[in-house]
Amino acid sequence: MSTRPKIITVANQKGGVGKTTTAINLATALAAIGEKVLIIDIDPQGNASTGLGIDKEARKKSSYDVMVGEAGIQDAAMETAVPGLWIVPSTMDLLGVELEISHQPDRVLKLRHALRDISQPAPYTYVLIDCPPSLNLLTLNAMAAADSVLVPLQCEFFALEGLSQLLKTVEQIRSTINPRLSIQGIVLTMFDRRNNLAVQVVEDVRAFMGDTVYETVIPRNVRVSEAPSYGKPAILYDLKCPGSQAYLQLASEVIRRERRPKAA
Ligand code: ADP
Ligand code: MG
Repeated sequence: MSTRPKIITVANQKGGVGKTTTAINLATALAAIGEKVLIIDIDPQGNASTGLGIDKEARKKSSYDVMVGEAGIQDAAMETAVPGLWIVPSTMDLLGVELEISHQPDRVLKLRHALRDISQPAPYTYVLIDCPPSLNLLTLNAMAAADSVLVPLQCEFFALEGLSQLLKTVEQIRSTINPRLSIQGIVLTMFDRRNNLAVQVVEDVRAFMGDTVYETVIPRNVRVSEAPSYGKPAILYDLKCPGSQAYLQLASEVIRRERRPKAA
């Protein structure tokens, strides 16, 4: 069995679609079933870091240091309150990283090289990368480093808008620097079943994207949106709430997909 972790990039260039919420809660759910999980926060906003209760002052080393080669992943990884879950936090420094590395020939490969240097056997079974809301150099680094891309789509009228651009970018990365990159899956988020439009969106996305779309749909749930202000994943904040239960179900689907023979 390979000791390499499975590296999943959580990406969508739209903001507010549930990337960070999905990264935090999927990671927590995977940790809860015994996986060893690392989140790498590469959004300068640092919402994943804050949502996991990592104080700004405590972020001694960050994904910025990793991107510019001043720290290894292991130097920057911090424990969280969730057993089995670590995070490489982000800081606002990341805002300047594109300019700093843009002239370097390996600018898209910074994260991949950093991840390659994780010791063997790897201390993690999963690495989840939480991306900024943009198809910028940070997101490209995440795609270049990953085995797969997990795309959260919000159940709203414009859900599919921008998806083709995202899929095109994945295809470009696959055909150039990362042939192993696949689509892990599309997860529909913030679903409100009382909203007819949301129901229609789910149908449309399934018709368009087939079984790339996870069966699990994440409901809109106020407990999920409250949790980050307590510095906790929803799954710790309120395990029984429908949002937490959905993320646990998503984790088991993600693991099941690992075992499924890959489609061509
Ligand atoms: P992104 O990382 O894509 O910008 P977030 O995960 O930060 O998106 O989510 C955007 C906002 O929506 C946040 O305030 C978050 O708490 C809220 N949110 C995300 N998922 C849910 C959900 N299932 N139910 C209710 N609120 C949610
Ligand atoms: Mg985010």
